[in-house]
Amino acid sequence: MRFKKIKEVITKFFYPDNLNQKKEQEIYNKAFQLRLVKNYISEILFKNIQQYKEYSKVDLIKELAPTISNPYLTQKDIEYAIVEVWTTYRNKIDLIKKNIEFKVQDKIIKKYYKNNSKVHNRGELRIFEVRKKSTKLSKVMSFLGRYGYVGIAKKIDNNLKDGKYKDDAKREVFYKTVSYFLNKYGEDRLLKLAFQKRFNTFNKYNRNQHQFSSLSFTTQSRIKHTIVNKNKNRDSKIDSFISIGGYKKDDKQTKKGISKKYQLDIPTKTDQAYHLNFNDYSKVYTMQFEENQLKRVNLTIEVEKSRPVANNIILKKPNRNQNKRVKSNKDKILGVDINIKHNLFATSDENIEIDYDRNLFNGFVKFLKKLDKREKDENGKTKKLGKKKNKAYQRWQNRVSNMVIESTVELIKQAKEKGYNHLVLEDLELMSKLRSNNQEFDINNGRLIKLLNLSSIKNRIINIAHKYQINISFIHPEYTSQTCNRCGSISRKNRKTQEEFRCIECGHIDNADFNSACNIRDRLLLDVLRVKFLNINNFSEYKTKDFKKESIKYILEGYLTIIRNAN
Ligand SMILES: [Zn+2]
Repeated sequence: MRFKKIKEVITKFFYPDNLNQKKEQEIYNKAFQLRLVKNYISEILFKNIQQYKEYSKVDLIKELAPTISNPYLTQKDIEYAIVEVWTTYRNKIDLIKKNIEFKVQDKIIKKYYKNNSKVHNRGELRIFEVRKKSTKLSKVMSFLGRYGYVGIAKKIDNNLKDGKYKDDAKREVFYKTVSYFLNKYGEDRLLKLAFQKRFNTFNKYNRNQHQFSSLSFTTQSRIKHTIVNKNKNRDSKIDSFISIGGYKKDDKQTKKGISKKYQLDIPTKTDQAYHLNFNDYSKVYTMQFEENQLKRVNLTIEVEKSRPVANNIILKKPNRNQNKRVKSNKDKILGVDINIKHNLFATSDENIEIDYDRNLFNGFVKFLKKLDKREKDENGKTKKLGKKKNKAYQRWQNRVSNMVIESTVELIKQAKEKGYNHLVLEDLELMSKLRSNNQEFDINNGRLIKLLNLSSIKNRIINIAHKYQINISFIHPEYTSQTCNRCGSISRKNRKTQEEFRCIECGHIDNADFNSACNIRDRLLLDVLRVKFLNINNFSEYKTKDFKKESIKYILEGYLTIIRNAN
């Protein structure tokens, strides 16, 4: 497979380490002031949306930035705040524009009840619906409602004369139609109708002023040197600093009562494998707050990556070790299989395996069975849980959740120790829907997964991984346990017992969980599968594209066929 090098901007996280209260207060203060500014701009845009709806970012900065002065903020801070508000309204305006639509009445549909019932008599009106349709004229009117302006007729005629739409036949035809109607009925008349519709639609959909409630903000530091720096003092416990310009220091007051802007150094822990080259970081930074607490600093870095040129097929026999191309040389990927048969997490590294508190789980299952029995007594109908039972249920679920979180921390610590920096798991939400029976606990495995509360702790798991500077990706859970990791054959018969994987095609024998974990890892590791099944996000992590179960099998088996043909 051919690769090409591409440049890509990705976001990396830095967690403040031993940040003193005074510095944190300075950041909080800036965040607080910026939120006020954003809501102030939001109010202006909301009240004058007709005036600002065609403004570009630059227009808006030019007009509003000089009117805002705040001793705690730099010019850049204010510009970035304006852009954030502008983006929010831009999206809103685009949505509103889509709703400016002219249609004409097509037909009226009436349906009647065919039989008598307790509520209705036969022949009473059941459905009354006015169907609408688009015509050439209504399409032109919708266009004028969205984009029309005084003088548009002349502009379009000139463009048509100059052959501006020549390359796009469809577009040319459309503009010819617009021109035809503008000339037939007169620009004045059509624009008047179009503007009325535009005005009404904006009034209808621009009901609420957008409130910025989060303290998170993005801005640019204006300092000459790099934004991330190693601590030169080797005796210090702190290994690096993020150095940002544009903060004030309380102890150096000027005549006005507010000091000049100073540099702020945020101590942080860094990891070379994750954070890469400090010199390559952009000076744009995001202070991310969660519930009014500074959570982390996000910085962006430009990296060069190898991407497969075509996502077609592997033509050579994939020697399973040689052909596993890693996305980047720096990535060391660990596949993680979540199950509750023999352990909680089995991994593609035989030395990492995390078990869980079996007693806790047995207790929970007993409790559930008691609930089930009680429910069955009610003439087959499920009664709602009483307050007491509900509380007990919640307690159990919390205990189990906590256990899983603790185990996750343990897993991530061990992975980190062994040099892994990228975990791959099955998508927990998809997984809840999938899994069938669990023999050990004699209770539906899908239900157990649900009770493990995995989908709701997905975000917490992601956060823990990020805290340890480990990327985390999710893949489709389908067929991970039935696929042979050596030859790719998929069959339920490959799993004769819970413990052992025995391939009916190639005879490969392995521990079943280990085999699954390797399959999970390979969905990310193998180019064909990754490109087909996954989307990448800004943090170089992957998540699943929408696929039906049948398509997944089809693609996986297609891959298998290629391997066989190459043999
Ligand atoms: Zn096999």
